[in-house]
Amino acid sequence: MVELEHARALLEQMGLQTAAQLLDAQLEQSLHAQQTYVQFLNELLSSEQQQRQRKSRETRLKLARLPHRKSLEDFDFAFQPSIDKRQIEELGTLAFVAREENVILLGPPGVGKTHLAVGLALRALDAGMVVYYTTLSHLITDLKKAQLQGRLERRWRVYLRPAVLVIDEVGYMQLDRQEAELLFRLISERYEHGSIILTSNKYFSDWGELLSDNILATALLDRLLHHAHVVNIRGQTYRLRERWKAGVQPVPPAELPADN
Ligand code: ADP
Ligand code: MG
Repeated sequence: MVELEHARALLEQMGLQTAAQLLDAQLEQSLHAQQTYVQFLNELLSSEQQQRQRKSRETRLKLARLPHRKSLEDFDFAFQPSIDKRQIEELGTLAFVAREENVILLGPPGVGKTHLAVGLALRALDAGMVVYYTTLSHLITDLKKAQLQGRLERRWRVYLRPAVLVIDEVGYMQLDRQEAELLFRLISERYEHGSIILTSNKYFSDWGELLSDNILATALLDRLLHHAHVVNIRGQTYRLRERWKAGVQPVPPAELPADN
């Protein structure tokens, strides 16, 4: 069994930890099933590869900082008929990421913008991609802090490296001139280099006010929307639906005026 020990040590030295661990069991199984050498080798190396993929996904999932893990499969399209299910399914194939296009999810609160953004982000993680989630207010706070501490250039990498960057909740916070310039620089640098999934409760016509600068807003939207899939959600908030189901009425039934 010196040879077996030697083989295991070699696998470990080469960083094939799972293969090293499974060597004994795989050998025994192969002998039992009268497998060929090639079959044995394929199974051993496949286990190693699968384990690596699982670990890589776990690591990337942690680094992505998603607010939750709701998938596209969890989304009830019947509840939101203004969404074209086929369009979301097409986006779910991630062809837009390969083409470095953006996805813009628009609509009032509670209609599922974050859910869909996270669902698409999970698909990208499954496909082996690096993903990062942030809200606009976190993004701006983080960049300004980095700027103050003189490490802005290094910090950009967090937002430029991922194949998919989610910027959630654009519209709740109005940006001043300096903040708007940081956002503009980010959108410009990712333009035709990496995808952005952005959600907003504001119409594009309101972005001048949002960024405290009409010209900057026009230039920013020009880049953001040049290669973009815009999903406009016009519908009911799902949060209220859950309350209706629990028996809470949205409004008290109207008192009919006494008829006399
Ligand atoms: P938004 O980001 O547009 O404000 P969210 O995506 O946060 O809305 O949705 C609010 C909550 O309702 C979340 O828990 C989300 O998972 C759920 N939700 C919204 N729309 C749907 C839907 N069509 N099917 C299933 N869950 C939904
Ligand atoms: Mg949201």
